[in-house]
Amino acid sequence: SSPAPSNFLRTIIENDLASHRFAGKRWAGIPGPAAVQQQGEPDVAKIRTRFPPEPNGYLHIGHAKSICLNFGLARDYQGACHLRFDDTNPEKEDDEYVRAIIDTVQWLGFNWEHNGETNLYFASDYFETMYGFAQALIRGGYAYVDEQNPEQMRATRGTLTEKGTNSPWRDRPADESLQLLQEMREGKHADGSMALRAKIDMASPNMNMRDPVLYRIRHAHHHRTGDAWCIYPMYAWAHPVEDALEGITHSICTLEFEDQRPFYDWILARLVELGQLAEPLPRQYEFARLNLSYVVTSKRKLLQLVREGHVAGWDDPRMPTLAGLRRRGYTPAAIRLFCERLGVSKADSRIDYSILEQALRDDLDPIADRGVAVLDPVKLVITNYPEGQTELCHAPLNPHDPEGGQREFPFSRELWIERDDFREDPPKKYFRLFPGNTVRLKYGYIVTCTGCVKDENGNITEVHAEYMPDTKSGTPGSSAVKVKGNITWVSAAHAIPAEIRLYDRLFSDPHPDAGDKDFLEAINPDSFQVVQGWLEPGTVASPDKIWQFERLGYFVADRVDSTPEKPVLNRAVTLRDTWV
Ligand code: ATP
Ligand code: MG
Ligand code: MG
Repeated sequence: SSPAPSNFLRTIIENDLASHRFAGKRWAGIPGPAAVQQQGEPDVAKIRTRFPPEPNGYLHIGHAKSICLNFGLARDYQGACHLRFDDTNPEKEDDEYVRAIIDTVQWLGFNWEHNGETNLYFASDYFETMYGFAQALIRGGYAYVDEQNPEQMRATRGTLTEKGTNSPWRDRPADESLQLLQEMREGKHADGSMALRAKIDMASPNMNMRDPVLYRIRHAHHHRTGDAWCIYPMYAWAHPVEDALEGITHSICTLEFEDQRPFYDWILARLVELGQLAEPLPRQYEFARLNLSYVVTSKRKLLQLVREGHVAGWDDPRMPTLAGLRRRGYTPAAIRLFCERLGVSKADSRIDYSILEQALRDDLDPIADRGVAVLDPVKLVITNYPEGQTELCHAPLNPHDPEGGQREFPFSRELWIERDDFREDPPKKYFRLFPGNTVRLKYGYIVTCTGCVKDENGNITEVHAEYMPDTKSGTPGSSAVKVKGNITWVSAAHAIPAEIRLYDRLFSDPHPDAGDKDFLEAINPDSFQVVQGWLEPGTVASPDKIWQFERLGYFVADRVDSTPEKPVLNRAVTLRDTWV
């Protein structure tokens, strides 16, 4: 593949590498005081990035941007990218999500192995270390236990135009805070009755610097640490510590964390000052998150769609989750291509959903085998073709790859064609079948329509045509007659029946969750349709093989519901953008 285009993060990394900013940095790898003692030995990795999902839901297309960015930078600069579970919020987290996230990152084509290290981490493994750091902060005069409840803390925090006021507990002796923190840990105090806060500046223009909470009490079961803890670190404090313990060099996050950066730097500098961490420290950089039209990516909203049954699960093919996109037929290469095309910048923007679809087409067009399917079938009877006779027709598996081989499939007297390819009363410029008109049956013969048969309700049950024996595709007579219409078909006696699932966008509003809209009201009631179609024999459906059915789009076997006996196919995307 071509070298990745430069961006501001690459420029920063290249400057850091040129100035040896991280030379000699030892990756600790082991949480706890050992991490500090071991610093100073040379690091084998040049840069270290991390992808830090919280295991409280499935990954979505927005996460793909962060995954491709972080793992891609590590790959391109011979560094390491850590997969770290930011599991500091016990109520919403679960092992199911951990497994799904691991599976998805691997499916996208990335791994966390680097020179023999397995860089898979859990923030919860650092809880004891973080606790020690908190004690050090208290002793150093940088943190205190505040006995105000959350409402009081909010009330004294001030506003953007008004300074906050100091807590009455702010200047209590360190020993008292140490004792109370210990009691908090031991479960002696109720949720919300007190918290450990950093002592910074209640008058700071940056609200995040007004004595942010470091630990809160939560009597909750954690999916990994069980009931060992009832105090849990806040994200803003846990995150820089996790980065530092793992020797992360570039901590790349989305723009909404820009205002957190002063605290990120402050807390790490204090821990260095207190001898808990050593230079060089990680630095945080922000980039614009992916906002995709017609999609919601808030995990809370995705969870709501699943819980309330608006979709069939996290991997419903209409979901913007990577599990859903995978089931729909998206390839890892298409998603990587999409992320590459997005680029990386600090400017917020909204990307149209069609950009994602086009990346899939561009990935599949050169590689997908072709076949024919009929989704809305009506019978075409070739009345002058002998009953019981069959012969083979030929077509390239992929027209972009002349050496890629041919497929063959039978022609016979009775075929399935698309209902829409016949009109009794054709509109202007309709070149397909209507009485008296001549078309080519693609890869087969030229036929002239002679009429149709209807049932008692006037529904067309059969279309009739006569073929011209010398006009078969690939024979010398094939170009003797010029036609404007070219229609696809399958032999009725040979075609494979299949359930075909057709999807449209899950939301009909391009900005389903803008402002204070109720995103559920924007759900597209016609986002899912099932038809019984017929497939060209030989187009064996599997979840790992994507077919292009001519004129119709790209299709893949549904990885949950399809069986060899009863194929179920999803349309991943149409051939052209039909959504204007
Ligand atoms: P939510 O707010 O919906 O819970 P999140 O961002 O908190 O999502 P995390 O699991 O914490 O979810 O995200 C892991 C990483 O993925 C973070 O570093 C985050 O910045 C990044 N990320 C999440 N959503 C996007 C997005 N839309 N575009 C780019 N990066 C994203
Ligand atoms: Mg998060
Ligand atoms: Mg979040």
